[in-house]
Amino acid sequence: ALAATVRTFSGEGRTADGHRVQLLANIGDPAGAEPAAAAGAEGVGLFRSEFCFLDREQPPTTEEQVSAYRTVFHAFAGRKVVIRTLDSGADKPLHFLSVDDEENPALGVRGLRTAEKWPELLEQQLEAIAIAAAAEEAEVWVMAPMVSTVAETEWFVARCAAHGLETAGVMIEVPSAALLAGPILARAHFASIGTNDLTQYTMAADRLLGSLAELSDPWQPAVLQLVAATCRGGDLQGRPVGVCGEAASNPVLAAVLVGLGVSSLSMTARAIPDVAALLGAVTIGRCREVAQLALAAESAAEARAVVRAALPQLD
Ligand code: PEP
Ligand code: MG
Repeated sequence: ALAATVRTFSGEGRTADGHRVQLLANIGDPAGAEPAAAAGAEGVGLFRSEFCFLDREQPPTTEEQVSAYRTVFHAFAGRKVVIRTLDSGADKPLHFLSVDDEENPALGVRGLRTAEKWPELLEQQLEAIAIAAAAEEAEVWVMAPMVSTVAETEWFVARCAAHGLETAGVMIEVPSAALLAGPILARAHFASIGTNDLTQYTMAADRLLGSLAELSDPWQPAVLQLVAATCRGGDLQGRPVGVCGEAASNPVLAAVLVGLGVSSLSMTARAIPDVAALLGAVTIGRCREVAQLALAAESAAEARAVVRAALPQLD
C-alpha cells in the first residue's frame, strides 16, 4: 500500500518561480490560534470574531473581548492577524445582534448592516480591538463582513481610523462589492474575498442547502469572473486582495485564484501544506494560464476539468 504523504509547511508561500503568496489561517475560537501558529500559518487571514460569542444572550463586555482578541494576537506576535468585526445573521445569528422577524435572513440585516441598528456594539468592538492590538505585537488588520456599497466602506474605514486602527478593509462577498472593487479599494486598504457567500449570492443558492451543491460551487465561472473583477480593482488602486473562503483550501483552485491576482490565501490551517506544495510546483505564468482557462469555461465542471488537466497532480 502507498503511504499517504504527510506534508508540513513553514516559512513563506511561493510559486516555483518565487512569486509570493501569503498562506494564512482561518480562526474561529481563540483556542484555535496556537495550533494554527504551530502548523506554520504565516498569519491569520480571517479571525471570525463572532465565533467567540455565539452562545451569549448578552453582548460581551469590552474586557471579555480584549481577552479573546489578545489570545489570538499573542499567538501570532510579529505576524499579520486580520480580525473580522462581528458577522451576525443568517447561518450564524448572535442573540444580541440579530433581527428575528426577517423572511430572508441571508438578505437581511446581517454583517456590517447590523452596525446601523446597533452602532454602539461596533464602537465597543473597535475599542476592544484597539486595546488588544496595543497590548500585543501582532500586525492587526480590521475587516468588515458583508459590505455592499462604497458608502459602507468609507464609513467603516472612518470608524476604524477614529479608534486608531489604520489598516481597515472589507470582505468582498456580495456581487455589488466585487463589481465596485475599484472605488471600494480607493477607500479600503485591502479586500478579502469570501467565496462562500460570494458564491451563494452570485448563484442565488443557499450555501447550507446540500441539494444545490452543483450551483454552490466556487468553480462556477460567474464566481471566478467576480474574483477577477475584484483583483482588477485591487490592481488599479495598488491594494492587496486575498481570499478567505473555503475555495482557498483547494490546491487546484488556489492556483487559479493566484493566477487571477490574489496575493494571500486564508484557510483552515491543516489545508496549508497541500496548497503550499501545489503552488510550489507551478510558476506564476502557469497560474495565470489556468486562470484564463477557468474564466473561459462555461460550467463549473468544465473549469475544474480543464484546470486539473493542466496542473501537476499531488500524490
Ligand atoms: C465567506 O463567506 O466566504 C467567509 C469567509 O465568511 P463566512 O464563511 O464566515 O461567512
Ligand atoms: Mg461570509
